[in-house]
Amino acid sequence: MSEPAVVATECAWCLGQLDEEEIEDPRKDLDGEAICDECYYEEYMYICPICQNFAETKDNEKHLMVTPELAENQRMEDGIYQVVEFPVYSASMLGHFNFFPSSSKRVARLPVDARGYWQGGFICEGCAKKAIEEDQWLELWHLWVR
Ligand SMILES: [Zn+2]
Ligand SMILES: [Zn+2]
Repeated sequence: MSEPAVVATECAWCLGQLDEEEIEDPRKDLDGEAICDECYYEEYMYICPICQNFAETKDNEKHLMVTPELAENQRMEDGIYQVVEFPVYSASMLGHFNFFPSSSKRVARLPVDARGYWQGGFICEGCAKKAIEEDQWLELWHLWVR
């Protein structure tokens, strides 16, 4: 007879009490330990700066948005960049970013939707796809009106 699985009732990280739903179907960290939603969101998810939806880091850290402000600091062009290799940037304790030029390549201009947010960072794959399509349309449009 195998032993019954131990049911975790508290988060392995913050040791907070899990609620009923979390006990029944807990989120797991990479070691398979049950953790609460809050810890999971903090560690494995981020908010896409364009659509404001939660995206999971393990699936999504493939494209990033470089805002004009960020671009000026980094002496690079603003737009959507595709990650070629990690790490993409180093961050100092003071919050200064330093992009590694060879670790990402520019694939699209900034999407119209994103104007006005101006908060850079990783974007979700849905928004990346839209930005690249929009960029291609604009490219065609410019050819056509020329
Ligand atoms: Zn927790
Ligand atoms: Zn998005």
